[in-house]
Amino acid sequence: MTTSSNRENAKMDSGSSDEDSTDNSRASICPSAICSFDQIVASAQNKKIVLFLDYDGTLSPIVNDPEKAFMSPEMRATVKNVAKHFPTAIVSGRSRDKVFDFVKLTEIYYAGSHGMDILASTADSDSTTKETREAKLFQPASEFLTMITEVSKSLIEVTKAIKGATVENNKFCVSVHYRNVDKKNWKLVAQVVNNVLQDFPSLKVSSGRKVLEVRPTINWDKGKAVEFLLHSLGFDDSENVLPIYIGDDKTDEDAFKVLRERKNGCGILVSHVPKKTEAFFRLKDPSEVMILLPLMLNIFAVVLLIMPSQLEIDFVISLNNCHVGDGISQFLGETEGAINF
Ligand SMILES: [Mg+2]
Repeated sequence: MTTSSNRENAKMDSGSSDEDSTDNSRASICPSAICSFDQIVASAQNKKIVLFLDYDGTLSPIVNDPEKAFMSPEMRATVKNVAKHFPTAIVSGRSRDKVFDFVKLTEIYYAGSHGMDILASTADSDSTTKETREAKLFQPASEFLTMITEVSKSLIEVTKAIKGATVENNKFCVSVHYRNVDKKNWKLVAQVVNNVLQDFPSLKVSSGRKVLEVRPTINWDKGKAVEFLLHSLGFDDSENVLPIYIGDDKTDEDAFKVLRERKNGCGILVSHVPKKTEAFFRLKDPSEVMILLPLMLNIFAVVLLIMPSQLEIDFVISLNNCHVGDGISQFLGETEGAINF
């Protein structure tokens, strides 16, 4: 068990925030997913695609008020469409109920609380009663429920004097948002969070996009959730399945890493700046997710089934003239060379 003495303390971004920081160590081999789509197409030949999507910053824009991180009707329709063709799961740090309230699609699977609250039965057509659905819940951190409620109350108490700080109870984890806190008070937020966690040695804290994430120290994360879903849904066969995970945050790196280590799967980072990442490709922002998902539909759900070779060639030719958005065109020279996944 991790204790407070060896647990990492909350670290606030100073000047260069997580979302703004750059690291070229792997960014240099992380090209645009759209301009490199031919590589994804090639890797998906004769494989079933399973799609994993983060929510905040991936399907919805990052906004000042996390309660208002709504996805657009167009994005909802797009996700609904891809879910008709590919098994699709949302993997979010939000509580499962809250992310469902945002997404509002019953066709897909949901893993809330950074994968610690998985409901894998919603898409089962036979599982329409609440009793049946609840029976298929997987909650590896259920023993922490009371503790999370308690730490959430403490965090609300200690942050209420810090203007702009908000605490979001995500059931099996807690988010302390400081996006609206004056920069000079960021360290104070980290300090009060760390102080509270001294009394909760089995909880840990990590930083995200202007948010501190407090969660149990159990060996479970979004990567484990992806592995669990692939296994429980019967998509463990790496020969015939290509998992694709799209996400924007540090917690999504656990999923990117799992796919990279499986040597089967494609991580796509959503970021408007290059970052150190375990992902293979990058998209600038949710607007480019909106471009990629229909591409996947056109190519994987239709083209490969109809006349793969010629249409694929045509598509690759069109990619050679890829100029979709400023954030992509700068990577035009980086799509050369094979990336094995
Ligand atoms: Mg996110």
